[in-house]
Amino acid sequence: MDIHEYQAKDLLQGYGLRTPRGGLARSIDEAETVARALRGSPCVVKAQVLAGGRGKAGGIKLARSVESVGGMAAELLGSTLITAQTGTQGRPVKAVYVEEQVEAARELYLAVLVDRGAGRVAFLGAAQGGEDIEETAVREPAKLKRLIVDSNDGLVASEAEAFASGLNLEAGPAKAAAKLMAGLYKAFVELDASLIEINPLVLTEAGDLLALDVKMSFDDNALFRHPRIADLRDRDEDDPSEVEAARYEINYLRLDGDIGCMVNGAGLALATIDLLKQRGGRPADFMDLRPVVTRQQVATGFKMILRNPKVKAILVNMYGGGILRCDTIAEGIAEAVKEDGLKVPLVVRAAGTNMEIARKILTGQAVPAIFADDMAEAAERTVAAAGQSPDGGAS
Ligand code: GDP
Ligand code: MN
Repeated sequence: MDIHEYQAKDLLQGYGLRTPRGGLARSIDEAETVARALRGSPCVVKAQVLAGGRGKAGGIKLARSVESVGGMAAELLGSTLITAQTGTQGRPVKAVYVEEQVEAARELYLAVLVDRGAGRVAFLGAAQGGEDIEETAVREPAKLKRLIVDSNDGLVASEAEAFASGLNLEAGPAKAAAKLMAGLYKAFVELDASLIEINPLVLTEAGDLLALDVKMSFDDNALFRHPRIADLRDRDEDDPSEVEAARYEINYLRLDGDIGCMVNGAGLALATIDLLKQRGGRPADFMDLRPVVTRQQVATGFKMILRNPKVKAILVNMYGGGILRCDTIAEGIAEAVKEDGLKVPLVVRAAGTNMEIARKILTGQAVPAIFADDMAEAAERTVAAAGQSPDGGAS
């Protein structure tokens, strides 16, 4: 789960993060009120959407006066911001954050995340942060410094200071940065975060460190331990179909292809998507049925795939285990098809417990499924059915 910049700034202040003074506004009036409270200092008006790249997309505006803050808020509020990270549909701007402009002597980059290779929490830092950090990371990876934290020792102060010095900070600011890192590490572990990214972290002429922008994400599977964090979720930015699916014991992510996928088991679902892509297919979704899913819930999930207008073919890859058996999935599919009809080719691969019964259920209830014996064949037949040539283009 991602939270907004203003929420992350608020939350991390409790862990020693310093940010410019500012406030949230949901209307032009509110934006002007915040600007007035900042006593006429030049302001930044920032679109609050759950995506980065706002600066380059016109979502961050610099204002000289209270009136221009109002004008900029008027431009942003109610608009749809399309950034390099939002996809073409963009994100609705329902609030802006108005904060004091800060003169930066330097813009740094500092992040805490899980280093998957090391299986540890790690800090990433760069002496030159800012909007082009992604390109820097690709073109000059050596400029990104990494500090892997030992989970037993935690963050050692001297190591943090050495890391900060490596970002070209002098002794004073390096000490401050190390203290900030300790606070961020505590927040990261205590709150089960998956990412805290400060970009830019600015060094002012006076030698202070201030976070101008913060992105923060949390591990969804740990949210039950943090009800106050869970409450920060912005439901308006959730994909409504993903929210609906979660109620039916289904993990669902909408993708932008045209092959609907239904699989039980997240690993198998990923493998299925990989196979489709290798054969030039474009998955329309990631759908993982949880082991406790019922026939009715499977039916609801299958209807979600049927309702997606982009879908040109469907692949069901089921593996019957001890809890969820193939017949339950087949009955759910048959029920959905009976109610909503089936207008696109359906390829089914069933293996494991009750695989034969699953086939019988589908054939018996006149579901026109194409049966495949293994995953590779299933993927091939689905890609062919969707009318795609092996190079990924439509044929
Ligand atoms: P992002 O593009 O979504 O990462 O949004 P940011 O909040 O990082 O804003 C984009 C850029 O605007 C930053 O990298 C800064 O260079 C600039 N910016 C943001 N706030 C301020 C500020 O208070 N003062 C100045 N001078 N620049 C700012
Ligand atoms: Mn930023």
